[in-house]
Amino acid sequence: MFNKILIANRGEIACRVAATCRRLGVKSVAVFSDADANAKHVAACDEAVHIGEAAAAQSYLRIERIIAAARATGAQAIHPGYGFLSENEDFARACDEAGIVFIGPPVEAIAAMGSKAAAKALMHAAAVPLVPGYHGDDQDAALLQREADAMGYPVLLKASAGGGGKGMRVVERSEDFAAALASCKREAASSFGNDRVLIEKYLTRPRHVEVQVFADKHGGAVYLFDRDCSVQRRHQKVLEEAPAPGLDESVRRAMGEAAVAAARAVQYVGAGTVEFIMTGADFYFMEMNTRLQVEHPVTEMVTGLDLVEWQLRVAAGEPLPLEQSQLVVQGHALEARIYAENPSRGFLPSTGTLKHLRMPAGGEFTIGTALQRASVRIDSGVREGDTITPFYDPMIAKLIVHGATREDALARMQRALEACEVVGPHTNVEFLHRLVTCEPFASADLDTGLIERHHDALFAPHQQPLREALALACAALLAREADRSRDVSPWTALSHWRLNGGYTQSHTWRDVETDAAISATYAQDGNTQKLACAGGLESWTWWRGAGADEYGTTIGDTRVTGRVFIDGDVFHVFCLGTAVVLEWQNLLAHAADTEHGEGRLTAPMPGKVIAVLVEPGAVVEKGTPLIVMEAMKMEHTIGAPAAGKVTEVLYGVGDQVADGAQLLVLEAG
Ligand code: ADP
Ligand code: ADP
Ligand code: MG
Repeated sequence: MFNKILIANRGEIACRVAATCRRLGVKSVAVFSDADANAKHVAACDEAVHIGEAAAAQSYLRIERIIAAARATGAQAIHPGYGFLSENEDFARACDEAGIVFIGPPVEAIAAMGSKAAAKALMHAAAVPLVPGYHGDDQDAALLQREADAMGYPVLLKASAGGGGKGMRVVERSEDFAAALASCKREAASSFGNDRVLIEKYLTRPRHVEVQVFADKHGGAVYLFDRDCSVQRRHQKVLEEAPAPGLDESVRRAMGEAAVAAARAVQYVGAGTVEFIMTGADFYFMEMNTRLQVEHPVTEMVTGLDLVEWQLRVAAGEPLPLEQSQLVVQGHALEARIYAENPSRGFLPSTGTLKHLRMPAGGEFTIGTALQRASVRIDSGVREGDTITPFYDPMIAKLIVHGATREDALARMQRALEACEVVGPHTNVEFLHRLVTCEPFASADLDTGLIERHHDALFAPHQQPLREALALACAALLAREADRSRDVSPWTALSHWRLNGGYTQSHTWRDVETDAAISATYAQDGNTQKLACAGGLESWTWWRGAGADEYGTTIGDTRVTGRVFIDGDVFHVFCLGTAVVLEWQNLLAHAADTEHGEGRLTAPMPGKVIAVLVEPGAVVEKGTPLIVMEAMKMEHTIGAPAAGKVTEVLYGVGDQVADGAQLLVLEAG
């Protein structure tokens, strides 16, 4: 085993790898960019080396800097995590040349699987089933059109070098093919530096089921069973689980064996994932990811194994710790990816400081202890007070639960999501909660179209804030007023509430999500307190809880406790499994709100302009795409808010723009 390794990554995966190192007594070296000087992963490692500026291209993607850091610290091996350089054959080669072990497959295996088209040719030779399609070298447009026509529509165009759901186009009709091909090639060239495409028959209502494989340097290769990752948005995974529900044991075995055959075909070593697309009991090879996957924890939870430990052992030349016959699945595990993003605005990434961050009990995953099969595991790369920046993936945490059955795990997941409290950036927590409680997911009726098909229910604006949430906000407001009057002067805060012994006071709150104004009236008469939230006055009591930010109230016959995190005049109420954000309308200090209107032609996030689709003088309809921006690996198209004429375009392709910067000038008309 190694004495010391370098982790060429950041965020949760760097912390995850460091945890295993610590347990095995292997020293770990972090690398970090300017933006990450105080990041959690730096603290999680024994040493840390600064490698450059915030932009990944200036730090986490700089091969020579990372190799130099490994040399300087005496690290014997490098773990690449996922993303960044993990599937970069130049990096693996540079490690080899520097005499440092790359904790991953050989250069040749990365290269073989790096092109989806070439990989499919190899898999065909290894008798692994493929989706009907064309993956040839000849990229002549007319030939591609003929192939698509022969296959029958719909077809899916994919960038051969693609990944992360990018560079894919569904084509419904022959007459749309040429345009889709051109746009796919354009995106492939700009995102992956290679415009080769392949065509697949587009399967309707398929499942994404993948198999975890492991191979050692002595010819051993096993599969660690399957994961279902069908719940996706924009071809990116949102929920994952192991084992894949409803698979026949014979199908499970056939898929496992096909995945091992795929790995053997490229002399694979280390951890890899073979992704299949399924309809019914038929499965077809899609691609192989030659690295540890984001969703590997669900496999760890059902097998009880530490996959990072296996990676280290294999890279150090040890044989696989277990043989196929010794591997078993116990129970069921689910994972939800908690992101700083705004689901109701097309999952637009969100940035900002995590002012308040509370994850469900179960806490951080401690591998190799009694917690290994703990029912709740959090893998996170951030702490309260940290900032989600525009430079990297906006993931906050992965929430993983284990249960004896899928039902048990599902119930745990629902409760665990209810216990997540995040204040700062927008998050997808509520969306995830709706997903895991929706009927098709609960009944494991899984396919990749689930989110789209249930769009209305999943994205519906939430109901008026609960009366209980409003009551808790009022409690927190009164508590704050009481504290202030004690600290400052006994008269300031409460004086204007008084009215001959008893007093009443009305407050207006704004429900931040729906922008609705809600009034609450508080009345005190002697020792009796009453509160009206939307309805009539009801008897009311409130108290402070034991912990910080904790409050309780009874309103009418209902007793409820919860947490209220106050940020200026914005009250984040967490109770009964929901988060409600209420802004107290402080009538004394009311300034004009600077809400960003949906239609403004400004950058909705800091990022880079990757396409300008109009020129000055262009006459556009409402909704005409104008500019495409990219930030945090997501593309976002900005459309015209109304019909009009473009008079000026203020940025060009490649420009970095700040959040809120005006992008172009549109004259209404
Ligand atoms: P895929 O989507 O390629 O099938 P995964 O679901 O495992 O595979 O997602 C891996 C993706 O995570 C990478 O392609 C990348 O976009 C993103 N990523 C890269 N680095 C990080 C990181 N440090 N933290 C979080 N996400 C990352
Ligand atoms: P990436 O490298 O971006 O992960 P994949 O080839 O793994 O690309 O495909 C990503 C997702 O796109 C799959 O999980 C699935 O949801 C969808 N997909 C891929 N191929 C097909 C297909 N032939 N028919 C229908 N959906 C597909
Ligand atoms: Mg994939």
